Amino acid sequence: MQSLNSTTSNLRYLPSVDQVMQAQSIRFLAAEHGESVVTVHVRSAVDEVRSELMAGGSLIAKTTKQDLMTDVVNRVQASCRARQQVALQHTINATGVVIHTNLGRAPLSESASRALAEIGSGYCNLEYDLALGSRGRRGSSCERLLIELTGAEDAVIVNNCAAAAFLVMSVFGAGGEVIISRGELVEIGGDFRIPDVLAQAGAAMVEVGTTNRTKLADYAKAITPQTRMILRVHPSNFKIVGFTAMPDISALAHLAGENGMLLCEDIGSGTLIDLSKYGLSDEPVVKDSIANGADLVTFSGDKLLGGPQSGVIAGKADLIEKLRRHPLYRALRISKLIYAALEATLLAYAKGTEFADIPVLKMLSADDIDARTASFLAGLSSKTTSGLSARKVAGTSAIGGGAAPTVHPKTALIELRHSDMSAAALESALRSSNPPVIARISDGYVVLDLRTVSTAEEIHLMNALTRLNVKDSDP
Ligand SMILES: *Cc1c(COP(=O)(O)O)cnc(C)c1O
Repeated sequence: MQSLNSTTSNLRYLPSVDQVMQAQSIRFLAAEHGESVVTVHVRSAVDEVRSELMAGGSLIAKTTKQDLMTDVVNRVQASCRARQQVALQHTINATGVVIHTNLGRAPLSESASRALAEIGSGYCNLEYDLALGSRGRRGSSCERLLIELTGAEDAVIVNNCAAAAFLVMSVFGAGGEVIISRGELVEIGGDFRIPDVLAQAGAAMVEVGTTNRTKLADYAKAITPQTRMILRVHPSNFKIVGFTAMPDISALAHLAGENGMLLCEDIGSGTLIDLSKYGLSDEPVVKDSIANGADLVTFSGDKLLGGPQSGVIAGKADLIEKLRRHPLYRALRISKLIYAALEATLLAYAKGTEFADIPVLKMLSADDIDARTASFLAGLSSKTTSGLSARKVAGTSAIGGGAAPTVHPKTALIELRHSDMSAAALESALRSSNPPVIARISDGYVVLDLRTVSTAEEIHLMNALTRLNVKDSDP
């Protein structure tokens, strides 16, 4: 039992928290970060080393008290250094997934980023009417733009689309019945499931039709004196194909109106403009839903719209006013920073410059990826990158963010190979570069898609590739 013996003898050499606290370099750290903070870091470093010793890892080789002390001190120094760095950082999305939820969804336009910085760094007229010199309504300028862009009578903005849908169901569905097609009992992701949300909102869900086909008569038959709302939910992240049927919005709006109930539509991604030219013909346009008679429409601000995380409810003025006065709205409202970024984003649509200004739309409509990829590769080959080879191959990008799951725009990929690194090692090395580069592994190779890399980010990507340190990153 050689390893057990060396484990127990090594454990004997493990310094105590008090002993580590006396070390010269730890005294320096304590002066800088404070005694109590450093004690916490020392305690967890000692615990970490103890469990590694007990697990019989590589620390077994450290046989002297001094070895173990040095190891603990190094860990404390590293964790104190990390403490002063912001962990949320700019990350290069080379996956080609445009609305990547794990990577923060929509990158903001330049004007939205500027607005964010400007409004964040000083006071602003968030709830102040500059013309009257008195209290004004929070968000009114953003709401005015939404009214103009959607054709709705009024609009209100909350934290995200999940909050928007929950607010609508809570205020207008609670205590009554909500009719929904069996084909629309959607899970969006992050545990947002329509049946659960309705239950939480206090509404009784009445399912009608089948998974693939629901008719107007199915809805009509389910109406009772308790019915408050017909709910339509866009099945954003999946698609039912084949023998399918759903009544259109105007027929449902008519049925709801005739029976004194609401037609509410959660369209999720909700684009403000028609994107069918780019293959997104299944994505409802907000203006169409409103024009077809939906009483309330909910959609995200950071999916295809291309703004900051937010959720919009657009629709009939009296209903929106009721939402605005509800106590739940106060809990779901957004900050001045989000208004700033959203207003700048919406302004691009109002001016008609959305395809030039908004990154998500630029990426969707990009037709220069092939040329950009070729010139990037030419730049790469002029640098010395030992062991690395790269070539252009045809591939596809994805929309992501729970939108248009069947749409895969054609793209050019950069396929990477390294003489001394596996694909997994190469992917991990890119991920640990500064700024981190997130790549995909496809058919056993690391691939990069410039669709989601801005031209300003290309230099960082180039640096990450030319600085690949083989020895450090290959396990
Ligand atoms: C994405 C989505 C949501 C949730 O939107 P968030 O902005 O992520 O909260 C809700 N409903 C539908 C139909 C969606 O597609």
